[in-house]
Amino acid sequence: MTFPALVEPAAELTIDEVRRYSRHLIIPDVGMTGQKRLKNAKVLVIGAGGLGSPALMYLAAAGVGTIGIVEFDEVDESNLQRQIIHGQSDVGRPKAESAKESVAEINPLVEVVVHAERLDNDNVFRIFEGYDLIVDGTDNFATRYLVNDAAYFLQIPYVWGSIYRFDGQASVFWPHATLEDGTSAEAPCYRCLYPEPPPPGMVPSCAEGGVLGVLCASIGSIQVNEAIKVLTGIGDPAVGRLVIYDALELEWRKLKVRKDPNCALCGENPTVTGLIDYDDFCGAISDEAADAAAGSTISVTQLEHMLKEREEGTRDFVLVDVREPNEYEINKIPGSVLIPKGDFLNGSALEQLPSDKQIVMHCKSGVRSAETLAIVKGAGYADAVHVGGGVVAWVNQIDPSQPSY
Ligand SMILES: [Zn+2]
Repeated sequence: MTFPALVEPAAELTIDEVRRYSRHLIIPDVGMTGQKRLKNAKVLVIGAGGLGSPALMYLAAAGVGTIGIVEFDEVDESNLQRQIIHGQSDVGRPKAESAKESVAEINPLVEVVVHAERLDNDNVFRIFEGYDLIVDGTDNFATRYLVNDAAYFLQIPYVWGSIYRFDGQASVFWPHATLEDGTSAEAPCYRCLYPEPPPPGMVPSCAEGGVLGVLCASIGSIQVNEAIKVLTGIGDPAVGRLVIYDALELEWRKLKVRKDPNCALCGENPTVTGLIDYDDFCGAISDEAADAAAGSTISVTQLEHMLKEREEGTRDFVLVDVREPNEYEINKIPGSVLIPKGDFLNGSALEQLPSDKQIVMHCKSGVRSAETLAIVKGAGYADAVHVGGGVVAWVNQIDPSQPSY
C-alpha cells in the first residue's frame, strides 16, 4: 500500500543542506521534495535507550528538521553495550542531554527538543501535540499502551519496535491512515495486534533477560526507515504488517496484521475512549507496593469468609474499594466502601479510615490496592491487607452474576 506524504515540503534547502544531503537528493524517489519534507518534519522519539539511540542518530543524519526526545533517565555504564548515542564520559549524565549533544555533533542543522520527564497520562498529550510522527523505543508494556492510545486520540502515526535477546519486531501503527484516493486504509493499532498485555512477570525485560546490543541497531534503523517512508510518502511502509527479525537465523519475516473490528480502541464499539490506568492494565507495581503486599495479600475466598464473619459479628474490618466511581457502578464486592486511589495519594483518605479497625483494600486486579496498601501501612495500619486479583477474581470465582469489564 502507498500513502500520501505525511509532511508538506519546506520552502527551500540552504546551500549547506544541499551539500549535506546530496546522497539523498540524487535518489529520484527522495529528491529535493522528499528532503524538504524531512526538513519540515517533527518527529518525537520516546526513549534515548537501545532503540532510541540509533533512531535518533539516523533521524538526525537524515535531516529531520525537529526531533523531540522523551527521556528522564541517566546514562549507566550497563547502557553503553547498545545505547551508542551515549559515550563513556556521559555516564551519570541525563540521557536526554547526552543524546542532544550527540545529535548536534551529527547534524547541527537539526533542532532538538528535550522532554526530560517520564511519559504519563498527565503529560502525554502536551508532549505529543505538534509532532507529525512518533518513534516508540520504550521497553515496558504500560508505556506502549499509553503511546498507542494517546497517538490514536491525537491521530499521530507511530513506528513501534521491540527487542529481546536475538529477536526484534517492528510495525507502523496508523489507524487513521488514508490512501491516496482518500479512503481509509483500515489500518490496525497496537491493541489490534496485542489486545491484552502479557501477565506481569511472564515476559522478562531486557534488564532481566538481556539483549544483543547490535539488535538495537537492526530494529532502530528499521524504525527510521519506516519513519522516512511515511514522512515523505515513498515506498510501502509496514502499516498493517509486523516485521519479525531473528538475528541468530538472520531471518526477516513479514506478517499481515489486520484491523480488529472488536479492538477496544479503534474498533467499531470502543471501550477505551480516553486514557486508562496503564500500570493497573499491565499489572505493573512499584517496589514499595510489592513490599507492602508481601505477606499481606488475601484471596477472594478468604475475603468471602471474612465477610461472613463480619455479618455474624465475630469480626470487624473496613473493606475499601480504591477504584473510580464509574468502575464501582459496573460491579462491586458487597459491603465495600468506595475511596478512590487518588484520595490516598493526596492524603484525604486517611481521615476517613477508622483507627481501631483492620483495613482490607481491593481494586480491579490488585495493582492499585497494592499501591494504596503501601500508603496505609506507612500510616501505621500494620494489619492492613489487600485482595489479590481484586474484583475481577471476585466476579470470576465468587459472584459470576455480576458483569466484568
Ligand atoms: Zn486497534
